[in-house]
Amino acid sequence: MKIDILTLFPEMFEGVLGASIVGKAAQKGLVSFRLVNFRQYSGNKHGQVDDMPYGGGGGMVLKPEPIFRAVESLTESGAKTGGEIEAISDSKKPPRVVLLCPQGKRYNQKLAEELACEDHLIFICGHYEGYDERIREHLVTDEISIGDYVLTGGELPAMVIIDSVVRLQEGALGNAKSAATDSYSTGLLEHPHYTRPAEFRGWKVPDVLLSGHHEKIEKWRLKESLRRTLTRRPDLLEELEETKEIKKMVEELKQEL
Ligand code: SAM
Repeated sequence: MKIDILTLFPEMFEGVLGASIVGKAAQKGLVSFRLVNFRQYSGNKHGQVDDMPYGGGGGMVLKPEPIFRAVESLTESGAKTGGEIEAISDSKKPPRVVLLCPQGKRYNQKLAEELACEDHLIFICGHYEGYDERIREHLVTDEISIGDYVLTGGELPAMVIIDSVVRLQEGALGNAKSAATDSYSTGLLEHPHYTRPAEFRGWKVPDVLLSGHHEKIEKWRLKESLRRTLTRRPDLLEELEETKEIKKMVEELKQEL
C-alpha cells in the first residue's frame, strides 16, 4: 500500500510513521509513505498557499492550485478534465484522495477496513479556516472527520486514520487474529482481559479463565463482550446480526443488569 500525505507540517509525522507497528510495517515493505509539503507547489516565490476569503470574514483559506498540483504530481497523468484522478502506473485502482475535515463522514472501523483494501491513499491535511470549495468538489474522493470537534489541522486525524489502516495490513500485527476480534471489528466491544498474577491485592481472575476449558472460556468471553456492549454502547447491538445464542445471552444480561 502506498500512502501519500500532503501537509504543511511534515515534521509532525516523523515519530508516528517511524515507530511501533506502523514503523515496522514500513520496514517490512507492507506500506510506503511519502510526505509532500504542498508549499513547494505554491507557484510563487513567497510559498504562499492560502489567501483571504472572498466575501470577507476572518481566517485564511487554502488555495486550490498548490493542492491540485501536489495531488497531480503523485499520479501518473494527473487530473482529468472534471478533476477525476487517473490510475497510477503500478496500480489498477485509482487512488482514494481523502480530505481531512470536521464536516466529513465520521470515521469508524468499517471505513478503516474499507480503506485498508486500497492500493493507494492520498491524505490532504488542512489548516487555518478551511479549503477552497473547488478542492472538495473536483479533487477528492472522500471527506473524513475523526469526530465532532475541531482541531487546528488535519495532521493528527491523518495519523489516526493511517494507524488504524496500517494495522489491518496482512502481516502488520504479530497476531493476525487480534485485529479480527478487536472492538468494533466484531460489531461488539471486546471482552475484558486478564494476565498473571491470578490474584492481585485480593482481586481474583474469574475462575473460568483458569479452567483450561476452551468452550466455556469462549462462552464467557462472548457474554462479557455483550455485557460491555449493552452497558456502554447499546447502539451497536441494534446493528448486530443476532444468533440464537446471542439473543439468549442478551435476555439474560438484561435480567442481570
Ligand atoms: N473552519 C472549519 C470548519 O468549521 O469546518 C474548520 C477548520 S480546522 C480549524 C482546520 C483543519 O483541521 C481542517 O481543514 C481539517 O483538515 C482539520 N480538522 C479539524 N478538525 C478535524 C476533524 N474533527 N476531523 C478531521 N480533520 C479535522
